[in-house]
Amino acid sequence: MDMKVKKKLGLKERYGLMTRGLGWDTTYQPMDKVFPYDKFEGIKIHDWEKWEDPFRLTMDAYWKYQAEKERKLYAIIDAFAQNNGHLGVTDARYINTLKLFLTGISPLEYMAHRGFAHVGRQMRGVGPRVACQMQAIDEIRHAQTQIHSMSNYNKYYNGLHAPRHMLDRVWYLSVPKSFFDDAITAGPFEWMIAIGFSFEYVLTNLLFVPFVSGAAYNGDMGAMTFGFSAQSDEARHMTLGLECIKFLLEQDPDNLPIVQRWIDKWTWRGTRVLTLVGMMMDYMLPKRVMSWKEAWEIYFEQNGTALFNDLARYGIKVPECVNQTFEDKEHISHQAWATFYQYGAAADFHTWMPKPDEMDWLSEKYPNTFDKYYRPRFEYWAEQHKAGNRFYNNTLPMLCQVCQIPMLFTEPGDPTQICYRETDYKEEKYHFCSDHCKHIFEHEPEKYVQAWLPVHQIYQGNCFPEGTDPTAPGFEPLPAVLEYYHINHGRDNLEYEGSEDQRNFEAWRQQATKN
Ligand code: FE
Ligand code: ZN
Repeated sequence: MDMKVKKKLGLKERYGLMTRGLGWDTTYQPMDKVFPYDKFEGIKIHDWEKWEDPFRLTMDAYWKYQAEKERKLYAIIDAFAQNNGHLGVTDARYINTLKLFLTGISPLEYMAHRGFAHVGRQMRGVGPRVACQMQAIDEIRHAQTQIHSMSNYNKYYNGLHAPRHMLDRVWYLSVPKSFFDDAITAGPFEWMIAIGFSFEYVLTNLLFVPFVSGAAYNGDMGAMTFGFSAQSDEARHMTLGLECIKFLLEQDPDNLPIVQRWIDKWTWRGTRVLTLVGMMMDYMLPKRVMSWKEAWEIYFEQNGTALFNDLARYGIKVPECVNQTFEDKEHISHQAWATFYQYGAAADFHTWMPKPDEMDWLSEKYPNTFDKYYRPRFEYWAEQHKAGNRFYNNTLPMLCQVCQIPMLFTEPGDPTQICYRETDYKEEKYHFCSDHCKHIFEHEPEKYVQAWLPVHQIYQGNCFPEGTDPTAPGFEPLPAVLEYYHINHGRDNLEYEGSEDQRNFEAWRQQATKN
């Protein structure tokens, strides 16, 4: 019997069959019932076929590429662990940046995985569905490879033991957590703008480049290799975010104001989260890559401007909050570190005051602000520490209802005044760090009144281990809260000088380099 066997498929044909060819329109149930979420945000899509696949990748090719990357990554991680790589870092202060990353970023990768899996399911167009599926798999890989490449440090240093547990509880981790919670509880298109566009396209370089080059500068092969392994994924993610925004804007003119509002909101939410990265760059890396201000200028002001120029032809305007960032870039890293230094008892990493030569570096990088506003306070704290009065703040700060950052930012135009904004909603008062967070709240108050604010939760007695009786005589709230956080008081937290991490690192280094 003669059978007509088709010769090997052409690349384009094969790609078509392996992606869009897998989709179909439902007949037993109306499409609107199967895809209930892609209309309620008000976004109008007339032709899903107009979606341009940003990367022509089929699933089988995807697995092949990723497997290759995994093999290389794990070979290096193994070599790093076997060669006592943890002793090769500049000094043990560096490990604290990894604690911040592991608790504040890696769980978000996992959230990104969940978000893209969820959102991909909600899009009735098969093009974005396939793209979201790949990104969902990338993101779970990022979470896993980050945990694996840092796991060697967990054997030797404190504070790396419970990132997942901490994410849902520890006060400052509610900042990155609330960012993703906000995005994943939005509609599918807002998610795509929040994560695919603002986070991946506008802000990723400010997150990854500092951590990955910080790792390279400070001798951390593990984190550096993971970073390179993720980079090719990031390039795909950025393309997806940008494609999505162009697609929405080309589909219907009514989409423009909705997309603009999302861009405004998520650019601001992203810059607020990046405060933690700024602090890491200026204060936590023993060998600095560049200042936060320089990074902001290169990756946001220059690259971001080019991007917004590109989008201007669709009618997109540069978000208004950007004006405030021109001033903020001179301040936020110092303000954040000052806060962590004071609240060093309640963090899972160590804090310290910069050494004199490090203060000089800061003066040089921040000629307009460091000597004038921050150096005197930091020198005073350093003196007090020397005199045996290491300063810890025992009160709890007020938090912004939207970004959840303690009220540590200053008034635009006056760096000597803390910036407070408030609004009334249903006879309750809500507080904000800025005009931009206030505007975000006022647009969706029903969403943000539900925020789980760590300080409020502590005051309400919800952050003690089960069975705690706060009315018992002599009850001490701080140790109870730390226990609830799974922070080991006296080991994971407090001052770096004299910490177990510091002493161990020095002793092990001595053993490794001397007879
Ligand atoms: Fe990722
Ligand atoms: Zn805020």
